[in-house]
Amino acid sequence: MKFSLIADTFDILESKSGRIEMAKYFAELLKKIDTKFIKRLIYISEGILSPPFEGIELGLGEQLGLRAIADAYGYSESKVHHMFDNKGDLGLVAEAFCKIKKQSNLFPRDLTLNYVYDVFLKIAQTRGHGSQDSKIKMLMDLLSNAKPNEAKFIVRFVMGELRLGIREATIIDALSMAKFGGKSYHDKLDRAFNITSDLGYVAELFMKNPELIDSLKVIPFKPLMPALAERLPTSEEILKKMSGKCAVEAKYDGMRMQIHKKGGRVEIYSRRLERLTHMFPDIVREMKKLNTPEIIFEGESLAYNEKQNKFLSFQETMHRRRKHGVDEISKEFPMYVFVFDVMYLNGEDLTNKPYYERRKLMESIFPFSVLKPSEKHIIESPDKLDEIFEDAISRGLEGVIAKDLNAPYTAGKRKFAWIKLKKSYGSSMDTIDAVIVGYYLGKGHRTEFGIGGVLVAVYNEGKGHMETIAKVGGGFTEDEMSKLKRNLDVIKVKTPDNRLVVLDKSMVDVWVKPKYVIEVAFDNITVSSMHTCCFNKMNDKGYALRFPRIVRFREDKSLGDITTSKEVEDMYKEQESHT
Ligand code: ATP
Repeated sequence: MKFSLIADTFDILESKSGRIEMAKYFAELLKKIDTKFIKRLIYISEGILSPPFEGIELGLGEQLGLRAIADAYGYSESKVHHMFDNKGDLGLVAEAFCKIKKQSNLFPRDLTLNYVYDVFLKIAQTRGHGSQDSKIKMLMDLLSNAKPNEAKFIVRFVMGELRLGIREATIIDALSMAKFGGKSYHDKLDRAFNITSDLGYVAELFMKNPELIDSLKVIPFKPLMPALAERLPTSEEILKKMSGKCAVEAKYDGMRMQIHKKGGRVEIYSRRLERLTHMFPDIVREMKKLNTPEIIFEGESLAYNEKQNKFLSFQETMHRRRKHGVDEISKEFPMYVFVFDVMYLNGEDLTNKPYYERRKLMESIFPFSVLKPSEKHIIESPDKLDEIFEDAISRGLEGVIAKDLNAPYTAGKRKFAWIKLKKSYGSSMDTIDAVIVGYYLGKGHRTEFGIGGVLVAVYNEGKGHMETIAKVGGGFTEDEMSKLKRNLDVIKVKTPDNRLVVLDKSMVDVWVKPKYVIEVAFDNITVSSMHTCCFNKMNDKGYALRFPRIVRFREDKSLGDITTSKEVEDMYKEQESHT
């Protein structure tokens, strides 16, 4: 497939904002591609070279991009730099210089998807001495053969900023449309994606034969998208939702792990599905001793003192490790994994089995060494739930999670199969996870940090864009402020991200790429004319957080995990129903 066809479609997608419309255009592109190459097309459209759990990353620095553009089109670096200062988007800079290039290839070639993908892969895999120059040369070669809009997307891709605004859900709609003309296959494709986290793989199977999607099972070493918990404020409401009976597990405040084992191979994936096996050699060693040939399960890992039955939170573990050294702390508080679900066992996909069956199977395998089943009680009254909750809090746990005894494992979904009840933060009723999109300068004693606070946004799933919800200034320590400023300055951009809806471009002093996720506590949700979360054009108002303050940085979360505008709206309604 010619790369120009892809770039033309990307141009159209960029100009659209409705999910259905975007899906239609993308479906047209999918119809034209040979199934053999669809994987590559899907990955490129997602802005990746392979699924995150394979760990192939591109992300070239701006400086390399600038040099490649200058070399490819015969301009000085300072000229390119100057335009970049004005436009703030290196893709647009490449497009502009391509139109006025001073030098051309003697034998220009038409770029194809395969050629471009192979060069991207080579750039990603080139390491060691002299790798910078080789990378620039490869990028330059692509640019010198590219048409202007191809150059724009090539540069954005290698910078890790494709910014198409096309999410997995839209690609899934497009796949269904390409084959069946409508969204009839959406749910099946969605499940296939959620149990493999690999949209390229799913697309390839589907285009070969949709029935392969119907029969698709969980596969070792393709991590499942994690099941997520809903929240309700009281034990009464939880029990009502669970029809009077449920399991209650301790909610451990550690690091979520998905562990896969098949034969001699063991892999550990984080909540963001990055492969972190190398960071946990002790757990891998124990897993290899486990006498179960094939298994995929999930647990929360954290430091635990068995004798004292005391837990350390993830943050406390990290803090103590830094202060007293890893070995010292490992002796007193070794790492345990509290296993809370099993999704696959010896060739059998368990995700559709009810919780109580999965739990029984899990308990037939664990405890094993430092892998222990999570604490669990079956309860039938709100009082009992409260009692377990209070006990959990008193032992340094984060709260509890109620689980529907009959629910399947809901990969990638926030469903009422799990409902969390957490220790509240100060006077706040709840927290949200939001992404930082900009910062404003400090006033008073904050001037010394050069940052007074950050603007954060949530995600509107229906519309496929981010919406601002609060300016957060409180809750940061001085150290955090300085570090945050340094990190944000690396990802400064001239204009708000094009997937972000803002009412006023001067509401912050510095815009940044949406990257860092923070957990924000607040007193309540108010209706405001400042922010775009669930913005209603009738009254020019959206939702905002009242007295927002940071609780912690969520390094374990990415853009795809932030709170949705719909969740904020539900929280607002919930709050109003209690007033
Ligand atoms: P939070 O912000 O409350 O930590 P989250 O947004 O990371 O939650 P949720 O789906 O809201 O994710 O809550 C479930 C999280 O709680 C899981 O991601 C997991 O890391 C953690 N957890 C701790 N103990 C358990 C347990 N027993 N069962 C399931 N999840 C647990």
